[in-house]
Amino acid sequence: MATTKLTSPISERMEQAIVALQSLLDRRVSTAESVREHHSHGESYHTPALPDAVCFPQSTEEVCAILKISAKYQVPVIPFGAGTSMEAQVNAIHGGITIDMREMNKILHISPEDLQVTVQAGVPRKQLNKALENTGFTFFIDPGADATIGGMTSTRASGTTAVRYGTMRENVLALTVVLADGSVIHTGSRARKSAAGYDLTHLFVGAEGTLGVITEVTLRLHPLPEAVAAASATFATIRDAVEAAIETIQLGVPVARIELMDEAQIDACNRYSKTNYPVAPLLFFEFHGDTLRGVNEQAETVKKIVEEHHSSGFQWFTTPEERETLWKMRHEAYFANLAMRPGGKMFTTDICVPISRLADCIVESKKDLASASFPAPIVGHVGDGNFHMSYMLDPLNPAEHAEALRLEEKIIRRALEMGGTSTGEHGIGAGRKKYLPVEHGAALGVMSAIKRALDPDNRMNPGKMVEPQALFGNSESQ
Ligand SMILES: Cc1cc2nc3c(=O)[nH]c(=O)nc-3n(C[C@H](O)[C@H](O)[C@H](O)COP(=O)(O)OP(=O)(O)OC[C@H]3O[C@@H](n4cnc5c(N)ncnc54)[C@H](O)[C@@H]3O)c2cc1C
Repeated sequence: MATTKLTSPISERMEQAIVALQSLLDRRVSTAESVREHHSHGESYHTPALPDAVCFPQSTEEVCAILKISAKYQVPVIPFGAGTSMEAQVNAIHGGITIDMREMNKILHISPEDLQVTVQAGVPRKQLNKALENTGFTFFIDPGADATIGGMTSTRASGTTAVRYGTMRENVLALTVVLADGSVIHTGSRARKSAAGYDLTHLFVGAEGTLGVITEVTLRLHPLPEAVAAASATFATIRDAVEAAIETIQLGVPVARIELMDEAQIDACNRYSKTNYPVAPLLFFEFHGDTLRGVNEQAETVKKIVEEHHSSGFQWFTTPEERETLWKMRHEAYFANLAMRPGGKMFTTDICVPISRLADCIVESKKDLASASFPAPIVGHVGDGNFHMSYMLDPLNPAEHAEALRLEEKIIRRALEMGGTSTGEHGIGAGRKKYLPVEHGAALGVMSAIKRALDPDNRMNPGKMVEPQALFGNSESQ
């Protein structure tokens, strides 16, 4: 894969900025090529782009000082969590300073009585859940990867449990943010609700590091369910599977997870995870409740629904070990896809539509794949109307990349026509930026005005998501 910024000469301003960073952070700033390379990409097919330096702050004060250096020498900054984002969000396409947040990994305050926790932004979600063990509470958002809370906040992430517990949008209560000029603000409060002023917290949730660096996050916690059950159901057609999922949601069954895999994904997962599910469209369900009776009632309702949609098999998973095997297989889907095409790169679509349109959207989009040159298994958080097609590409074949871009454009335009969005959870980055004018029209001008107001020099993760000047017009021209 081609890499940009490898050989570009470093500017005099950047050299001065590095000297200032070294005097601030000593060995916690690196210009080593291996470190820069590690920070030049996320988990995606996009061309990596190296930052000029990478620093590792340990406090909000140090982040302030880094932002002041960036302002003084007019060089870009790119916040970096775990680097698991998928749309080139962390690629340093204009060089500059990457701020790796992972040394800001303290759990600051667990407050079970308020169902809240406050953490530094570099805390990975698995570390958070380990710290919550024995409190009776948990943080449910689970994007598969062990992402940081700051990265998840900044991409407005979600995962398999969003259908019941919401996305980062519903679960972030308050933030500490360092702005482009190095000043610090605190947004939101620890109250469960507030009507005081503009909702700045949610301005930064999903801003992908383009407006400021988040250093602390207060999150909502949820009690661990007393009773849990899981089940799977196999279907003759993908339409039957999706319509069963839609009906489950429309009837108000409070499922904790409903995930879809098509036959290609099941086949890949069976091979990788050594499972033996029938190679057919499959729904996985998880039910949470206060009593076993309650979860069994949910499961019985769902069993009737899937039978009405011609399910050929409803399988219960009652023990924690069985459930673990089930969700391990689901979370290994990414690796199963990589194993399907060794040396391949994954290009993932992420559209989300109103659930009433989901079956049509999936069926139509699957037809588009009939003549595709590469495998493209499907997984979906179907309870939210969100699904991914994983185009498994040969990175050395530009024709496949061009074909993937054409297919993605088709599916995004279909989602927008259905009243949906180009991305349900992975975000915009540099990869999907060209679709924002189509999706938001004049509202993009408001986003640009916000970007100009908070980052007048365009130093915060430049080239991602929103430009300071609105770009209108059709996507092909960009
Ligand atoms: C196998 C796999 C499965 C995935 N499944 C899902 C899924 O189900 N749902 C989902 O939502 N995502 C999923 N993702 C994508 C990814 O995990 C999420 O986007 C995640 O939220 C990124 O977090 P991160 O810590 O890796 O952030 P990074 O990738 O490091 O950064 C993401 C963005 O946030 C910015 N950022 C990071 N930290 C900060 C900060 N402290 N302040 C300001 N900006 C910051 C960065 O500049 C960048 O723009 C998956 C990824 C993989 C590899």
